[in-house]
Amino acid sequence: MLRDFDVPKTPIDPYLLKRWDRQINYFALFEREGFNARKAQEKLKNSTVAVVGIGAGGSSLISLLSAAGIGNIVGVDFDTVEEVNLPSQIFFKESDIGDLKVKAIKKHITSFNSSVNCEFYNKRVESTEDVYEIIKGADFVFDAIDEPLYYSALWVTRACLKANIPYVSIGSSDKASRVGPMVIPGKTPCYECLGLLPIDKFFYEHKYDAAIMGANVLMVASIAVHEMIKLLTGFATPSVLGKTLHINTEKMAFDYIEHAIKPDCICHSLITYEHA
Ligand SMILES: [Zn+2]
Repeated sequence: MLRDFDVPKTPIDPYLLKRWDRQINYFALFEREGFNARKAQEKLKNSTVAVVGIGAGGSSLISLLSAAGIGNIVGVDFDTVEEVNLPSQIFFKESDIGDLKVKAIKKHITSFNSSVNCEFYNKRVESTEDVYEIIKGADFVFDAIDEPLYYSALWVTRACLKANIPYVSIGSSDKASRVGPMVIPGKTPCYECLGLLPIDKFFYEHKYDAAIMGANVLMVASIAVHEMIKLLTGFATPSVLGKTLHINTEKMAFDYIEHAIKPDCICHSLITYEHA
């Protein structure tokens, strides 16, 4: 039986209803006053999501976003696909080796979902301003860039605070994988509130070969996309909002760590930069 709030006020694209029928069934589990499953899918189609870095995490995120029906995807990376990437960057193929990652991922997601609008930049980001220029106008940002360590997290944080866009990062290295915290500028703790960004020239120059497994990266990318869809559609409250989900992959143990807003953090001034 249809309730009043089940009936969208405007008609929804029949293709959307057909292709994402099972996902709409999932959203329907959460229907209530003010939340409609079909409108949620339409919201995803009209959303713009930016992914900074198209390595193991970024390529997994972009593929999952495309599968979920995000209509507009923005991405940036400067690298090319190498053989050593294939075990953890599972959406790239042997035939992509030598191609730019932005070219390879665009080819993958548009063959998979021809209705997605892509805006991919072949560029090495080197500052907050570089990130800001790419992500401005997005509804959500994923930080999936891992080099230079700490610097890149700082640039994404400051760019998202300046643009007033919610964001989250994922990580997978050694025996630990991580999602979060998800940040809503001005409402939840930013990455600098956590005090986890020790800027030291060593990290700018240091490169390392991470110990990663494709299955672990895909696991955290999947969780992050699921939590982002909660935020964009409102079907539930994201579990990583203001919290970090730490996963010990040896024991496959999941723990949430709650964070607090630091009173003197830079996020208090940056969030009013353009959105006062
Ligand atoms: Zn902060």
